[in-house]
Amino acid sequence: MEIRADFSELWNQVKRLSAAPVEFDWVAAAQLDPIDIELLEGREVRLEDLDVINGLLSVDGRQVLLYIPDQFSPVDVVQASPDKGKRFHVADCKTLADMRGKGRFERYVVTNNLTGIFPISGKNSRGISEELDSRLMVCKNCLDKLNYQNYCHDSTRSHIWQSFEIACFFETYSTSFPYLPRNLTQRAIGNDYTRDWGDVSTNVRRHCGFKCDGCGLNLSEHRHLLHVHHVNGLKQDNSSVNLRPLCADCHRKQPLHDHMFISMKDMQLLTRLRRQQSILAGDWTQVLELADLSVRDALMHAKHRGFEVPEVGYGLVSQDRVTTFDVEIAWKQRRVAISVTDAPVMADWTIVSPADFIRNYS
Ligand SMILES: [Zn+2]
Ligand SMILES: [Zn+2]
Ligand SMILES: [Zn+2]
Repeated sequence: MEIRADFSELWNQVKRLSAAPVEFDWVAAAQLDPIDIELLEGREVRLEDLDVINGLLSVDGRQVLLYIPDQFSPVDVVQASPDKGKRFHVADCKTLADMRGKGRFERYVVTNNLTGIFPISGKNSRGISEELDSRLMVCKNCLDKLNYQNYCHDSTRSHIWQSFEIACFFETYSTSFPYLPRNLTQRAIGNDYTRDWGDVSTNVRRHCGFKCDGCGLNLSEHRHLLHVHHVNGLKQDNSSVNLRPLCADCHRKQPLHDHMFISMKDMQLLTRLRRQQSILAGDWTQVLELADLSVRDALMHAKHRGFEVPEVGYGLVSQDRVTTFDVEIAWKQRRVAISVTDAPVMADWTIVSPADFIRNYS
């Protein structure tokens, strides 16, 4: 039997993908592992086996959230009003510390599923054991610990809590983790670019001299970090007013771009290049525009606490000039810096993670 199949569309897609500037990291996507599939389904853990990175929860280098499937309230009641259910956790918060301290035995599950729908179990209101899928609400102590979206200082904190979105949260902290959630990369693949997108995007980037239309960074030496953004969100609309060349960082900060992430390495490179090209932050608005999203919540806290406008990206040099280290944020006068990665000890500097910054200066 002869099988005839037309693969031309497939090859068009392949050609298009390799020609188009990437919106996500193919290297990270290729590193998919059985654990990514397991985490999508949910994996039972003991609290003491959880890793904590910058105050966030992690398993094998992946960001996760933690929930408790077994409910106190009837499961059908929780399903109808999720605020009656047990909260899920996204940070190493006070509640988790309490639970650890009490050595309470419960079933804890970690997942990096972004849907916000959890399998829960318990009795229903007729007293019969049942398993259901339900939305759950995020833990307020977690938001408090991270000052997520300025939760601690914002008058709309209950709105921040109610409208919490897991994908947006994970995107905020993507540079803290070596691996990205599987379903985050998959969302980036399901796009609708036109067939000639590779040519269109190349022309736009060439025409602007490989300069970001957001921060003004020249990326002619690092062209893969310059994307072309569809302003109205329609990837079929390639009219010139709808296309905007943006560096990977300015791009991911656009509305509705929570599928987009940037690796630590690329973010640090963009930060270094901006400094080399004298793209500096003169006020708090510019600081928040240029800084890595992972430090944004700590910066909002610093601003609230009356800190001066900091340097975004700064190369620390030890007194003996032997050790150098790039930090995300630095207050030179105070000798205080925020770093997303583990920092070496520098005699006259205090270098802390974003979560520790919020704790130390609360
Ligand atoms: Zn919590
Ligand atoms: Zn930019
Ligand atoms: Zn875009």
